[in-house]
Amino acid sequence: MFLAQEIIRKKREKMALSKEEIQFFVKGITDNSVSEGQIAAFGMAVYFNDMSMDERIALTTAMRDSGTVLNWDSLQLDGPVIDKHSTGGVGDVISLMLGPMAAACGGYVPMISGRGLGHTGGTLDKFDAIPGYQTEPDSELFRKVVKEVGVAIIGQTGDLVPADKRFYSIRDNTATVESIPLITASILSKKLACSLDALAMDVKVGSGAFMPTYQASEELARSIVAVANGAGTKTTALLTDMNQVLASCAGNAVEVLEAVNFLTGKYRNPRLYEVTMGLCSEMLLLGGLAANEAEARSKLNAVLDNGKAAEIFARMVSGLGGPVDFVEHPEKYLPQAKIIRPVYAERSGFAYSMDTRELGLAVVTLGGGRRKPGDALDYSVGLTQVCALGHEINADKPLAMVHAQSESAFEEAAAAVRRAIVIGDSAPEKTPEIYRAIRAADLQEK
Ligand code: URA
Repeated sequence: MFLAQEIIRKKREKMALSKEEIQFFVKGITDNSVSEGQIAAFGMAVYFNDMSMDERIALTTAMRDSGTVLNWDSLQLDGPVIDKHSTGGVGDVISLMLGPMAAACGGYVPMISGRGLGHTGGTLDKFDAIPGYQTEPDSELFRKVVKEVGVAIIGQTGDLVPADKRFYSIRDNTATVESIPLITASILSKKLACSLDALAMDVKVGSGAFMPTYQASEELARSIVAVANGAGTKTTALLTDMNQVLASCAGNAVEVLEAVNFLTGKYRNPRLYEVTMGLCSEMLLLGGLAANEAEARSKLNAVLDNGKAAEIFARMVSGLGGPVDFVEHPEKYLPQAKIIRPVYAERSGFAYSMDTRELGLAVVTLGGGRRKPGDALDYSVGLTQVCALGHEINADKPLAMVHAQSESAFEEAAAAVRRAIVIGDSAPEKTPEIYRAIRAADLQEK
């Protein structure tokens, strides 16, 4: 038997907590026997005094086990259960293509995703732009679609990781979100509760990233790889660029349309292609569906080019209640904003740098994200044809198209786009789409 205040005191004094102490505290978070004040104090003690990898693994697994842990055994799947998670970005529509691509290569992808947070878009909000698509199906339908189609992308189900729900909401208003051990446990407890064989983690770097510096992103990536592998799930993290909008657009319906165009081969934004292929290759490698990166890429290109990935996306959409001909006629179903108009820069030159966070916030302000929890979204709004860094900008070449519902919303978003994209006299040096991979074997290096 432990006392919550003694556990907090120990962490305050920079001592390591035992697995049993951590399990006791997490149980208290879940059953309300630990108070909100104690949880806040614990969070702050961890924020200042950190946790060893063993402590992080104990925290993550205790949180994972605080609610339902999915079990796939009865489905007798003939391939690995694999998934991807991102720390969040702007124009990051990867999940919509990657899930079907991985399924088309023999994996099973039960992807539990989230809503937009801060300036970042949420996969679930994008699917809500598709009429009829059930983002909160019952577990029977979820399992059926995973088994029959190979991929189902849905929202968090009832009792998954209740400890994180309570802990995160307290962290959010007690200034303890930005703690690497706590972020690691929060993200991984939810992913590991899905009983994955393998996970590819996309840790963003740059002006639209959740972590403030490259170093902090790398530290988070190392923590996630160490803890996930330590908890028994094969995991690799990629550090990927978020110094510009990843797709050509940002918003909900507009990103769904870009995903469909990507899958059907109408248009593949090169940055989006590189990051999607990088992450999906890792999923195939970790899941044993490819022996090396060349084989993984060749399998993925094949399912893109032969239409199998697009077909799986279509079956997932209809399996979860969306239109059966969605992939053939997305524009028939996706809502369109009243005003779709270009925004021009004040001078000619080259797109030199981008405050990606500000562009994400412009989408929120247009109504594509929430100002407060529970707000209804306008799925039609957003930005399209967003220039890439290095693109020439002039009187004929706009910075982006703004999709807005009113003149005043258009003007506000247009001003934000002009502020966010800096024009230079020359193109900036090109940055890579993927900075590096961090695999379990890389953890010894410093
Ligand atoms: N996303 C999460 O789910 N948890 C965190 O702590 C931070 C980002």
